[in-house]
Amino acid sequence: MAALDIPRFTPIEAIVGPMGAAKTAELLARAELHSFRNRDHVVAVTHLNDQARVGPNIIKSRRGKKLGAHSLETSDQVHSLLVREGLYQPNGRARVLLIDEGQFFDEDLARLAVNCQKAGIIVYYSGLDLYFNGEPWETSRAVLAVASKVTKLVARCTFRKCPEYATRTQMLIDRQPAPYNYHNRVVGDDRGSVVPKLKYTARCLNHWEVPGKPVRFSPD
Ligand SMILES: [Zn+2]
Repeated sequence: MAALDIPRFTPIEAIVGPMGAAKTAELLARAELHSFRNRDHVVAVTHLNDQARVGPNIIKSRRGKKLGAHSLETSDQVHSLLVREGLYQPNGRARVLLIDEGQFFDEDLARLAVNCQKAGIIVYYSGLDLYFNGEPWETSRAVLAVASKVTKLVARCTFRKCPEYATRTQMLIDRQPAPYNYHNRVVGDDRGSVVPKLKYTARCLNHWEVPGKPVRFSPD
């Protein structure tokens, strides 16, 4: 009997949220699902900016789970890697691209994700959705637009004993909220930050402060 021609759909999943929301853990859980099937062809990339925090060529969740990855800087480099790894070529195996710290890459990453989808490569993207000042990260915005599935994660607000969910990343400089136009947009944390006394933490909307943020639609 001839096999039925089953339509196949290749997903692009975006896993986004503030810092401390266990995005990387969620990404690694996806990787684990594929590693159960040893024959899946998985390529993992992360951004060089995360090297200071976790070291080169590794994806590491804050809970300590790890996965070998390629530390890269641009979408072009990701593409070259996929060519070298033969990921674009159907080979009878499930082909998977994992991207951690995706917000640091250029916006062309969204185009690359769509090309992967056309080529039958499953894409999992993990990254921050918003800068500390509440504006969208351009690359995450572009990837969210083409994603077929979006997983939004929340953290726990770190302000005193606030019980609320955190959806924002607060930047603190010498324990004070960073102003809206603060130039440093590289997100790390107090363990890996290159700028002394700069700290990032998760906050709920009520405890997230950005001095100088333009106010529109004020109810007052
Ligand atoms: Zn709070």
